[in-house]
Amino acid sequence: MERDLGMDEEITRRDFLNGMAIGIGALGSLGPSDLLRAGLYAQATDDYPPAKTGLRGSHDGAFEVGHRMRDGARADVFGRPTPVDGRYDLVVVGAGISGLSAAHFFREQAGPSAKILVLDNHDDFGGHARRNEFTVDGRTLLGYGGTQSIDGPAGYSREAKALLKTLAIDTQAFYRYYDREYFTRLKLSPGVFFHRETWGRDVLVRRPRGNGDRAFLAKTPLSAQAQRDLVRLSAEKKDYLAGKTAEAKLELLARTSYKDWLLKYVKVSPEVASYLQNSTHDLYGLGIDAVPAGDCRGLDFAGFQGLGLGERAGPGQGLSAGAGPEEPYIFHFPDGNASIARLLVRRLVPGVLDGSTMVDIVGARARYQALDNPQNAVRIRLRSTAVQVRHQRPNHSGDVEITYVRDGKASRVTAGACVLACWHGIIPHICTELPPAQQQAMKYQVKVPLVYTNVAIRRWTSLASQGVHTVRCPGMYWSGVSVDFPVSMGDYRFARGPEEPVVLHILRTPNQPGFPARDQHRLGRNELLATPFATYEAQLREQLKRMLGPAGFDPARDIAGITVNRWSHGYSYEYNSLYDPAWPAGQAPHELARVTRGRIAIANSDAAAYAYTDAAIDQAWRAVGDLVRARR
Ligand SMILES: Cc1cc2nc3c(=O)[nH]c(=O)nc-3n(C[C@H](O)[C@H](O)[C@H](O)COP(=O)(O)OP(=O)(O)OC[C@H]3O[C@@H](n4cnc5c(N)ncnc54)[C@H](O)[C@@H]3O)c2cc1C
Repeated sequence: MERDLGMDEEITRRDFLNGMAIGIGALGSLGPSDLLRAGLYAQATDDYPPAKTGLRGSHDGAFEVGHRMRDGARADVFGRPTPVDGRYDLVVVGAGISGLSAAHFFREQAGPSAKILVLDNHDDFGGHARRNEFTVDGRTLLGYGGTQSIDGPAGYSREAKALLKTLAIDTQAFYRYYDREYFTRLKLSPGVFFHRETWGRDVLVRRPRGNGDRAFLAKTPLSAQAQRDLVRLSAEKKDYLAGKTAEAKLELLARTSYKDWLLKYVKVSPEVASYLQNSTHDLYGLGIDAVPAGDCRGLDFAGFQGLGLGERAGPGQGLSAGAGPEEPYIFHFPDGNASIARLLVRRLVPGVLDGSTMVDIVGARARYQALDNPQNAVRIRLRSTAVQVRHQRPNHSGDVEITYVRDGKASRVTAGACVLACWHGIIPHICTELPPAQQQAMKYQVKVPLVYTNVAIRRWTSLASQGVHTVRCPGMYWSGVSVDFPVSMGDYRFARGPEEPVVLHILRTPNQPGFPARDQHRLGRNELLATPFATYEAQLREQLKRMLGPAGFDPARDIAGITVNRWSHGYSYEYNSLYDPAWPAGQAPHELARVTRGRIAIANSDAAAYAYTDAAIDQAWRAVGDLVRARR
């Protein structure tokens, strides 16, 4: 069985070796695009993190020191720290988009000679904005290991828009780079895979016109009752809350899960709720049991068309609630927002990434050994977990000392200021001088666990011949499988058709229906940390084989590389009207948590309780602003 699934196949390494026909000596004369065409990006994967496959995201080796701190260790268990480097003007903890933006904003204020050190516990920079590379039959494929797209850039703040502009990102250009007609030209649509354990038989059904489409439903194993209910759910214009005011209706929708809405008000059969359960996994990391009906109305889900509430208003709190005009979801670099992180690094640290445009960043290979160069004013030190951050003098005054652990050894740096752009959950354990109420507020943030798996496949004819490019899998281990976005930029070209290799993007959210949202996230995180790569691999080979095998997919032959991006601390927690109170202005936990103390300021998207790139940038702007004002 395992042999059938290709579990014993050598992947990626073999492709890397295939690509080595060009001698290393010849590389010096090749530019980035030549290398890209020659598929040589993946050379020396050991010191080139984007090309590492297997279990990535929060990879082994990145979190153990942090977890010891969480479990109550004191910083001195790592030994007496060695003082290193001279005094920095700023130390940033966390090299995600927030930390990198903080370094950028600080330098803009303090000038190019400002000495800045950015620490991160991972072996790659960008935080959630992570690049995955594969080499398939001599060709380089890129994937997003985390942060997917610039979502609704028209709604970004003035500062975030200005940052994109400084980085040479012209979001309008994506109207050219993203081929919006690609799947339509190939006559492909979304589909649904029903598996026999839950639905009685394995069958993949195209779903070009939504869940209420009778032609689609007739091919599914759903019962006649469930089919009738789904047709009614999408078509019926009934006011299930007749007699209530609009305000009372909205309040009820905010306090009722979509699942309960369907079962108790629309009165569909439980089978329909099971069928739709995972349709919110990608946005919320939760099923419809824990997502407010009001949010689902905002997302244009069915079942609200007769309530007389007028136009939908976007989800109630947070997710996708961009403040700007409605924009297509096309603002996507082939490695997702890792390109934003890479553009920031290119600007901050000389010698790491060549080029000058938003296009040439796509193929540029980062020189990781140049990140922490003593010759540069800005340095990025990876595999370094901050374990203690404190002012040298009482009452949050004096310089800040930051102790970090790298390769098991403790070192200490001193800085005029510090931005904690790391996750709020860890801050109370490493910065104990913060007032207890602030620490308590930080602990409210329980990040959403997610697994973003990228599978490089040699051809995707097995999807195309079934008429689908994305498939939802209700009730299965992996919630859905999608062919990557059809984006071509410069020399980087998306597959011309199904005969060419692509990256499949595959999602798992390890939630535990029946518990409140934050408990689901805690339980899910435990599951992620206890799951070895072999389990993920076996599950995905089997699921792909069952979905695509009847159309000729052979996991052993067709899979060229697997990268499981495990985000045990994924999206920032956004308040959920089912479980969280409406706090008075200024009193929400993230607002209490992000207060600057002396020369220590707090950034990260956690500081906005909003899981988006622009939140990470905005919080960096605010944190740096506080520090700069304090210096005046
Ligand atoms: C899977 C996924 C998909 C997403 N998709 C999108 C999207 O499509 N569009 C969008 O706008 N947003 C998206 N988001 C949200 C977006 O990625 C985040 O809001 C944003 O990138 C967070 O940046 P950050 O710098 O605040 O935090 P992070 O990216 O989490 O960076 C913080 C860094 O600090 C490090 N750190 C923590 N503790 C320590 C310590 N003690 N010492 C040193 N380092 C430490 C962390 O390991 C991490 O690398 C997504 C998030 C996830 C998880």
